[in-house]
Amino acid sequence: MLRVAIVGRPNVGKSTLFNRLTGKKLAIVDDRPGITRDWQSAKATLYDLEFELIDTAGLEEEFNDSIEGRMRKQTESAVLHADVILMVIDARDGLMPIDRHFAEWVRRQDLPVILAANKSDTKAARDGIFEAYELGLGEPVALSAEHGLGFSELHELLEPYVREAEQAEEKALLNLQDDEDDTDSGEFEHFDEDSGIGFGDIEIDEEAEEEKPIKIAIVGRPNVGKSTLVNALLGEHRMMTGPEAGITRDAVSIPWEYDGRKLTLVDTAGMRKRAKVVDTMERDMVGDALRAIRLAQVVVLVLDSNQALERQDLSIADHVIREGRALIIAMNKWDDVDDRQEVLDELEYKLDTSLPQVKRIPVVTMSALHRTRLDTLMKRIFEIYQLWNKRVPTAKLNRWLSMMVSHHPPPLTQGRPNKIRYMTQIKARPPSFAVWVSRPKDVPESYEKYLVNGLREDFDLPGVPIRLSLRTSKNPYHKK
Ligand code: GDP
Ligand code: GDP
Repeated sequence: MLRVAIVGRPNVGKSTLFNRLTGKKLAIVDDRPGITRDWQSAKATLYDLEFELIDTAGLEEEFNDSIEGRMRKQTESAVLHADVILMVIDARDGLMPIDRHFAEWVRRQDLPVILAANKSDTKAARDGIFEAYELGLGEPVALSAEHGLGFSELHELLEPYVREAEQAEEKALLNLQDDEDDTDSGEFEHFDEDSGIGFGDIEIDEEAEEEKPIKIAIVGRPNVGKSTLVNALLGEHRMMTGPEAGITRDAVSIPWEYDGRKLTLVDTAGMRKRAKVVDTMERDMVGDALRAIRLAQVVVLVLDSNQALERQDLSIADHVIREGRALIIAMNKWDDVDDRQEVLDELEYKLDTSLPQVKRIPVVTMSALHRTRLDTLMKRIFEIYQLWNKRVPTAKLNRWLSMMVSHHPPPLTQGRPNKIRYMTQIKARPPSFAVWVSRPKDVPESYEKYLVNGLREDFDLPGVPIRLSLRTSKNPYHKK
């Protein structure tokens, strides 16, 4: 699905526009799965067009930097995921230096830009709309997010991009399916303009949010068997749900179901058989993998069992962990292994020495070609996803914490105890904890490891990244 990022300085009406197009109030960011702190997205509709809208508004208080710094960070991150930029200015206020600064940056992004002059319902907006031409971003659309003006013009500008994305996505799906020809044609359902199905009238359904599909990425070096695996999984369990699949630049997400559970496969490399020079192939592969990892919740790293965990594999694995995604290792081509015990021993050794930050990463030996142990792989995916979502009650955590501290208190700082006061899980996906301590800076890394490993053991969190942040505050209830 086409991804559109709304950008612009605070107060120009980004949230109003976002709400209008998605029918949603800005959600609490932490509750949204798989989405990083500084932007959020929701499905938007504009008459018959469907696209994904990425927004940064309302998150200003997340950062303490200068307004420019803050905006740049949020915007960069939102734009990284976008296919089209929708830049909003306030036509009533007219151009501010910061708008120009922003436009300058936007222009360098190498993405199509639509400029919206918002609040054009006001008299004062006339001059602002003319001024907007100065930004060099083309003709502005005079919009009123609040009063619903200018949306058919916006529709006209967005439509070609939406259609282009739909076509690309359909093509990618057809490629993937190869000789299966049972695809939905991808024909878009057209809404009647007056039917009332338009922007702004979709309620958030909490239950539906809960049941969101698990986003899985399948990554790995070329030739390890990714496409074979994707085809094996989808071939057996495919349940296409029409033209819903999304494409963002190179990543394609394919909805399917396994055992009655909804999944989305975020696929990149391996779908496209490209004949390019090795050098570009390699670069694309890494770019593909990184993009897929960012979009996923569970990442399956496919290895060729006869060449397992080489440098590139390790760097992908490390990246998955640093991004806080749940990692599963698929030892593919297991049918082709002579000395299985030796391979397993070596794998265990490499995991221990090279990826010690996460203990007990799930490993599934399998064969995509012979379709063996696919069910086990799926089972592990569901298990790790559940762990990745786990929440530990605060009271339990604090009882555990006092036990840990009495066993082994942190070292004294300047002759005084470094008191550990309180702990809570600040979020799931991945499990992230905050600990309040008198002097966070004086807590050695080894002590943090002691706590993280303890959490992993005592709350049964094998194989998922665990984040711990040390904070200081007289009263933990005072501020988050
Ligand atoms: P954001 O910070 O950029 O997301 O801006 P908001 O969406 O929070 O809007 C800032 C203010 O502008 C709010 O008071 C809105 O009610 C107002 N506003 C938004 N869109 C319009 C519009 O089209 N016309 C008018 N007159 N006011 C608007
Ligand atoms: P990709 O580049 O990672 O997508 O890899 P492909 O799926 O194209 O597979 C590369 C080669 O490995 C093909 O010749 C496959 O038939 C072969 N292959 C894939 N899975 C297995 C497996 O489980 N066992 C064996 N022996 N070969 C496999």
